[in-house]
Amino acid sequence: MSILDKIKKILPKRKPPEFKNNVPKERENIRKAFGAYCKANHESKDGKLCPKCTALLTTVMLKIQRCPYGIRKSVCETCETPCFGEEATKEFSKTMEGGRKKLLLSSPMMTVKHKIAGLGAKYAKIQRQKDYTEKQKENEEKAKSKIANAFRSPKKSKSKSKKKKKK
Ligand SMILES: [Zn+2]
Repeated sequence: MSILDKIKKILPKRKPPEFKNNVPKERENIRKAFGAYCKANHESKDGKLCPKCTALLTTVMLKIQRCPYGIRKSVCETCETPCFGEEATKEFSKTMEGGRKKLLLSSPMMTVKHKIAGLGAKYAKIQRQKDYTEKQKENEEKAKSKIANAFRSPKKSKSKSKKKKKK
């Protein structure tokens, strides 16, 4: 083993680029929106949620924890594969929309930040799709070359062979 190899072994491996984990921030935003919506619409008091909103929030938080996209997840509201179930997704969208409107009146900065986070999530989504299409292309190319190889060897067509023989 050369000295260089030994050094390489000792040195820590270079970390892959990290994605910013926006999940804790999203959780916080969801909680705030739920709080604002429930307070305005369900007459809940002392900063507590009504039983219905509590149940929905619990479901949402659990689903976020188990999100298959991990920290690369998009914001739940813009997710292409919502996992809350149809009813809960509708209720969630309504709550978030209503809650955000209420929050906009009290803290405009939060809404702006949420918009920016949404843009970041869109970027992550585009990246995911790009990864996917590149893999798909690769597979297609492999399949094509396989087919091309299968046809190449047995067939030496007469019409084309006259020209190619000179090469
Ligand atoms: Zn409520």
